[in-house]
Amino acid sequence: MDFRIFKQLPRLIYGLGSINRLPELLPDDINKKTVMIYDSAVEQVVTPQFSNSEKIILIPYNSEKSEPYTSEVAEIIEKYDDIWPDTKAIVGVGGGSTMDMAKGLSVALANGLNIDQLQGWDIPTKPGIYKIGIPTIFGSGSEASRTAVFHNGVKKQGVNSDYSMFDSIIIDPSLSATVPLEQKIYTAMDCYIHCVESLEGTYINQIASGYAEKALDYCDQYFADLQNDELIAVASYYGGVSIVNSEVGICHALSYGLSIEFGIRHGLANCIVFNVLEDYYGEYCSIFRAIIEKYKINLPRLFPDGIEPDVLDRMVKQTLLMERPLENALGSGWRDKLNREQIEQIYLKM
Ligand code: NAD
Ligand code: ZN
Repeated sequence: MDFRIFKQLPRLIYGLGSINRLPELLPDDINKKTVMIYDSAVEQVVTPQFSNSEKIILIPYNSEKSEPYTSEVAEIIEKYDDIWPDTKAIVGVGGGSTMDMAKGLSVALANGLNIDQLQGWDIPTKPGIYKIGIPTIFGSGSEASRTAVFHNGVKKQGVNSDYSMFDSIIIDPSLSATVPLEQKIYTAMDCYIHCVESLEGTYINQIASGYAEKALDYCDQYFADLQNDELIAVASYYGGVSIVNSEVGICHALSYGLSIEFGIRHGLANCIVFNVLEDYYGEYCSIFRAIIEKYKINLPRLFPDGIEPDVLDRMVKQTLLMERPLENALGSGWRDKLNREQIEQIYLKM
C-alpha cells in the first residue's frame, strides 16, 4: 500500500506555561495583525495575557452550544470583513471545536470559498493564512491533524487537507486545569479511541503505530489517577499524528451519526459507540469500560425503545459517508462486511 506523503507540523512549543511564548511563533510582518479565536471557557487565561496587545485581535467563540457549523465560519468571516486583508496569523485557543474553527477560517479565506465547498478530501488548492493551534483540553488531536470538522445541518464532515494543518502549535498542559472531570474524560477517550482505531485498522504502518502505542501508554498512565495532564497533552498530539498517517475507524463513523442527529458532542458520542463495539475492538473495550466505571461515568442508554426509521436511516447514511474510516477498519471489501442492517443493529444496542 502507498501511504500519503507524511506532512508533519513544522513547529511546536511544549511545556507548562508555554502559551506565553506565542510571540516566538508569529510571522514577522510588523504591519499586520494576529487574529486569536478563543473558546469563551478560557477567557480568564486569554484576556489578561493578550488583550493589551494592539497587534492581536481577540474573537471569543462559544463552543459550549454545539460543535462548529459551516455557517459560523461564514458569519465570522463576514463580521470581521475588514480585518482579514491585514491578518498575518490566525490562532485557535480551545478544544477541537475552536481549533477546527481557526483552521476553517484560514483555509476558507485563502481559497476564497465557503467552507462547505471544501469539505471532503484534498479540495483546497491554496495554503491557508498562517495558523497556530493551542489546545486547552486534550484528546481531540486536532492540533496535529489535517482535518477541520464541521456540521452543515445535513452532514458532519472534515475539510481534509495538508492546508488545514496548523503551521505551529503550543502544547501547554497547564491550560486544561479548569476542564470539568467528565468532559476531560470524554475528550481524553477520543484520544484513546483514535489510537485503538489506528492500531487495529488496515492502514496501520510503522510510523502510525509508533505514535499510537506511545499515546496509549500515556493514556493508561493518565487514566490511572487523572493527575498528570502532561501525559494526556502529549498523548493527544501523538494520537493525532498517528491518525494523520493512518485513519480513524468504525467508532468515529458511527459517532458522527449521533452528533448529526442528536447534537451529542464528539467525545461523549465516541464513548457511547465504543461501549458497544466489543465485536470489533475486543479487549480495548473492556479496558475502556473499566475506566468509565472507575470514574463513575454513566453513559446514557440512548435507544431503549428503538429508533424512529427516518432517524435511523439518516444515521446510517452519515455512517456510510465515512468511507475511509470504514475501509481502514474493515479493508477494501468493507461494504461486504458492514451492510446497512449491521449498522442499524449496532445503533440499536446504544
Ligand atoms: P470542544 O472543543 O468541543 O470543547 C468541549 C467543552 O470543553 C466546551 O464546552 C468547551 O468550552 C470546554 N473547554 C475547552 N477548554 C476548556 C478549559 N480549559 N476549561 C474549561 N472548559 C473548557 O472539545 P473537544 O473534545 O476538544 O473537541 C471536539 C470537537 O473537535 C468536535 O467538534 C469534533 O468534531 C472535533 N474534532 C476534530 C478533530 C480534528 O482532527 N480536527 C479530531 C477530533 C475531534
Ligand atoms: Zn475523534
